Amino acid sequence: MSLMRSVLLAGSRSVWLREKAVKLRFVRRAVSRFMPGETLDDALNAARALREKRLGTVLSCLGENISDASEAESVARHYLDGMETVKRSGLDAEFSVKLTQLGLDLGAELALGHVDRLAARAGDHGRRLWIDIEDSRYTRATIDLYRRLRMTRANAGLCLQSYLRRTSADLESLIPLGAAIRLVKGAYKEPPDVAFPRKIDVDESYLSLSKRLLSAEARGRGAYAAFGTHDRDLIRRIEAHAAQTGVPKSAFEFELLYGIQPTEQIRLAESDNRVRVLISYGSFWFPWYMRRLAERPANVLFVARNMIGG
Ligand SMILES: Cc1cc2nc3c(=O)[nH]c(=O)nc-3n(C[C@H](O)[C@H](O)[C@H](O)COP(=O)(O)OP(=O)(O)OC[C@H]3O[C@@H](n4cnc5c(N)ncnc54)[C@H](O)[C@@H]3O)c2cc1C
Repeated sequence: MSLMRSVLLAGSRSVWLREKAVKLRFVRRAVSRFMPGETLDDALNAARALREKRLGTVLSCLGENISDASEAESVARHYLDGMETVKRSGLDAEFSVKLTQLGLDLGAELALGHVDRLAARAGDHGRRLWIDIEDSRYTRATIDLYRRLRMTRANAGLCLQSYLRRTSADLESLIPLGAAIRLVKGAYKEPPDVAFPRKIDVDESYLSLSKRLLSAEARGRGAYAAFGTHDRDLIRRIEAHAAQTGVPKSAFEFELLYGIQPTEQIRLAESDNRVRVLISYGSFWFPWYMRRLAERPANVLFVARNMIGG
């Protein structure tokens, strides 16, 4: 892991830095490249513009590690109301949630209760509910909870990270459930015994997990793949593999983050792929933004240019 990436990921956990940085105008301006605004309305306006380009969306209200049950309740309420708003808007938008934002640190039962209500409401609207995956302290609890949820909520999807050494075994255990899996590389700072330290291994793992998800056996069991990556080489290899092995485009989708690789988003949609853009919103954006900087340290230059620009 590069020094810059380590420093940025360590910074993402600093409360002191968060309190200072969110007040700085140039930081707020730089963040707007990845986030259309702090409210659900801002996200929906961006979703409307993306719809013109045949891009669906996934919406996520930023927040993690809440420490009070009433906060988890109000996050759940926000998402339930948000689903009604989305339904009225007619937009093709789904939601993605973090379990620690729904109280996982306070107990799995609390988080399961909330996520079950959200999945039920999403199901009533004919939509999927996605569950993000956080750092490796939560992997086991997240997968266990997903397994329980999936028994009654067929519309629940889970994110898995290709950088984790355990993911191949996790995927094998989830395929028989007909799980919907969003595959990503992984955004957190992890020790080498937990996650592959070399990018080449993370990328190789991503491709091999993708092929497994697209296999006839996985699809036969009802598994669905969402490829959450901006890696154009990987995307092309997945597209080629799907075409060569006769996988229909309805069996998978690509998901990219708002503001990242917009031309690739359009190219994918124009090639008749299902594509969703994940739009984050909310005021708790600092740790999430630091992870975006860590993914591409050149982004730090962009922040610096905003600082010089005034
Ligand atoms: C839809 C979606 C959902 C996600 N959900 C989760 C989750 O629940 N848990 C989790 O751990 N991670 C999540 N991630 C983040 C993911 O783990 C990676 O950290 C992130 O996607 C960068 O990896 P990459 O696959 O794009 O490949 P990389 O090899 O990192 O990047 C490939 C290329 O994409 C471009 N790029 C990538 N990131 C950026 C950036 N921040 N700014 C500008 N350009 C960039 C660059 O051109 C880079 O060369 C999610 C990502 C997506 C797209």
